[in-house]
Amino acid sequence: QDDLVKAVDRIMRHADAKRRLGVRANADTPEDAARARRFGAQGIGLCRTEHMFLGERRQLVEDLVLASSDEERQAALDALEPLQKSDFIGIFQAMQGAPVTIRLIDPPLHEFLPDIVDLSVKVATGAATDKDRKLLTAVKRLHEQNPMLGLRGVRLGLIIPGLFAMQVRAIAQAAAEVPGARPEIMIPLVAAVQELESVREEAVKILADAGVDALIGTMIEVPRAALTAAQIAEAAEFFSFGTNDLTQMAWGFSRDDVEAAFFSRYLDLGIFGVSPFETLDREGVGRLMEIAVREGRQARPDLHLGICGEHGGDPDSVHFCHDVGLDYVSCSPFRIPVARLEAGRAALTETDSDTR
Ligand code: PEP
Ligand code: MG
Repeated sequence: QDDLVKAVDRIMRHADAKRRLGVRANADTPEDAARARRFGAQGIGLCRTEHMFLGERRQLVEDLVLASSDEERQAALDALEPLQKSDFIGIFQAMQGAPVTIRLIDPPLHEFLPDIVDLSVKVATGAATDKDRKLLTAVKRLHEQNPMLGLRGVRLGLIIPGLFAMQVRAIAQAAAEVPGARPEIMIPLVAAVQELESVREEAVKILADAGVDALIGTMIEVPRAALTAAQIAEAAEFFSFGTNDLTQMAWGFSRDDVEAAFFSRYLDLGIFGVSPFETLDREGVGRLMEIAVREGRQARPDLHLGICGEHGGDPDSVHFCHDVGLDYVSCSPFRIPVARLEAGRAALTETDSDTR
């Protein structure tokens, strides 16, 4: 047993010495962050902040949705800010000075709003409170046929004034309290540079007021963002490829329905050998990535490039990420050893084609 552990350790150290790709983790809690460190993560590549708005905090999200004046909205945001600050303190502490990419909130709205059927039943049976009735009106107003292509990410940040600013302030305050903290702020679902510029301008002011340094970058997960990478790079210090959404939008397959009947039929027919949500589709999504890497780096030579979709932990996809010239991959903590090994293997096969 001891010999086996030592052998694995030797292989991992060999891979680490050879690899050019950094390996980060997708983690949203201090516990996950600590686990990621144990597996060898060099930072967090994706901290999904929407997960911090569930559970007991739903109440505050409802207040935000129901706010009917600037004052009410600000009160809801003010209540959320200290909670967010303590979330980020915990993660910065767990990461001990390693970079932490915090993605501003990107909720598919339907997952955060109360259930429309439950509310309707309450109203119909006379069991509804005043708040339930108001919520039902709000939920009906916000209802979308296709939430994954709806009011998410940067769109939500632009529609709800103060939402992103609250998160950036919480990040800045947390970073100021944890020595060595290295925050990176990531804007989701950007399709046009104008969206990014408007969020960036506000974030830069907040960070400067707090005296905190942080990179500001964007996810590249909408095909239009990949195709306009040169413009987007003017307003971003880093790109992180969100290949879950990029796959959905490049193929036109719903992420929520990957188990759809036609999917297995497509596998049977050999249209693809493996689901493009599992292994990166080099001909489509990969081409979009190549364009974005090339044009992004031309516009900004020091642009930092990573991936944080599920593909970041898939061996074949990690190999592609090495070939296309990314700086790092980010994946769930349990996939980190595989990503480290594959990144090492990709670097070795560059100089020794027999090892693959
Ligand atoms: C992605 O789209 O690849 C991504 C990492 O973001 P999410 O899965 O949270 O949409
Ligand atoms: Mg996404």
